[in-house]
Amino acid sequence: MSPTYDVVVIGLGGMGSAAAHHLSARGARVLGLEKFGPVHNRGSSHGGSRITRQSYFEDPAYVPLLLRSYELYEELERATGRSIATLCGGVMIGRPGSRAVEGSLRSARQWDLPHEMLDAREIRRRFPTLTPQDDEVALFERKAGFVRPENTVAAHLQLATGAGADLHFEEPMTRWEPCADGVRVHTAENTYTAGQLVICPGAWAPRLLTDLGVPFTIERQVMYWFRPGTGVAPFRPESHPIYIWEDAAGAQVYGFPAIDGPDGGAKVAFFRKGAECTPETIDRTVHDDEIRAMADHMAERIPALPGAFLTAATCMYTTTADEHFVIARHPAHPESVTVACGFSGHGFKFVPVVGEIVADLALTGATGHPIELFDPHRLTAAPAAAPAL
Ligand SMILES: Cc1cc2nc3c(=O)[nH]c(=O)nc-3n(C[C@H](O)[C@H](O)[C@H](O)COP(=O)(O)OP(=O)(O)OC[C@H]3O[C@@H](n4cnc5c(N)ncnc54)[C@H](O)[C@@H]3O)c2cc1C
Repeated sequence: MSPTYDVVVIGLGGMGSAAAHHLSARGARVLGLEKFGPVHNRGSSHGGSRITRQSYFEDPAYVPLLLRSYELYEELERATGRSIATLCGGVMIGRPGSRAVEGSLRSARQWDLPHEMLDAREIRRRFPTLTPQDDEVALFERKAGFVRPENTVAAHLQLATGAGADLHFEEPMTRWEPCADGVRVHTAENTYTAGQLVICPGAWAPRLLTDLGVPFTIERQVMYWFRPGTGVAPFRPESHPIYIWEDAAGAQVYGFPAIDGPDGGAKVAFFRKGAECTPETIDRTVHDDEIRAMADHMAERIPALPGAFLTAATCMYTTTADEHFVIARHPAHPESVTVACGFSGHGFKFVPVVGEIVADLALTGATGHPIELFDPHRLTAAPAAAPAL
């Protein structure tokens, strides 16, 4: 007889591991299936650090979710004793009117979030490694900082296992189909039945969610680590913020304090700007011209940073047309399937709250969290019919 579960979770990366934790904490019998090993580096949830912030320039609708995510990150640290979130402060830098500055300010004002506006001179005074142009300004948020993706995934896996979830690694789902009481899920080794299916596929969304009808673009993204010419001391998180820095053309670069050990240097990356790829075709080699371009870009903004190139790594974004997430009951299978995907390069800070939302949807069919923005119908809607002549 095939094993039976309340919920099968596909993908145990950022979102799926959080979903497995929240589901099993509520008493559901959970099976998690993951294509690779625990906490791997072939998806979107690796690289040592992710920015977190509350004055969200993407849309003020994200703020209540961020506030909840912050609470859940704290709970996760308490429950597992792992170091996960560090609020070292953050600056969103750009010209007045830029998305990074105006969008952040809009969210801060709408939700009454503590923040300060800094002119170029004040940015240089407070954060001497940063050398903005005279016409650049910043929104400073003390509660911005970074979370550790590998520790987050490991913590969620640990709690899920502790609550009795069965987590199977190196066992990808090959296909699934609806059945009388829910779903039947196949792998090369076995067939499982469950009342509910949760699909958190990361960059495999185009393959696993063909019947969702949502177009996703998979983008290759590169993270670069440099050892500052000054040594790491001025870049320590006790005094150095995370930053998102938008140029006159609207391109954004972001980075972290030096948090990866004495020789780990400080990480920087472009936000978006990645070549289209698939999980199978992604070029994992980081080329000299890319490293030079990043070093030149940073030299104008943080002259001490591109002292010595240390290493680089690739990662994937799964981007929707409007860069907002997809979190919903599957429109084609509303009784039994929940999807969480299309995190468009900014999902990690939401991982714990996405786990909570997915558990709500899978176990009760609804959530109290505001997720209207993430409805897949917005991306699948047929064009309006031409007016009759
Ligand atoms: C370079 C980079 C920088 C980023 N920076 C930030 C940041 O600063 N702040 C922020 O908030 N977000 C950031 N993000 C985005 C964030 O990391 C992602 O939104 C998030 O990690 C996505 O999690 P996921 O669970 O959707 O994907 P993943 O963690 O990749 O998980 C998907 C999982 O599904 C598994 N899978 C696929 N197919 C199958 C199958 N058939 N059967 C079983 N398992 C399967 C995969 O192996 C994988 O483990 C960044 C992303 C990248 C790449």
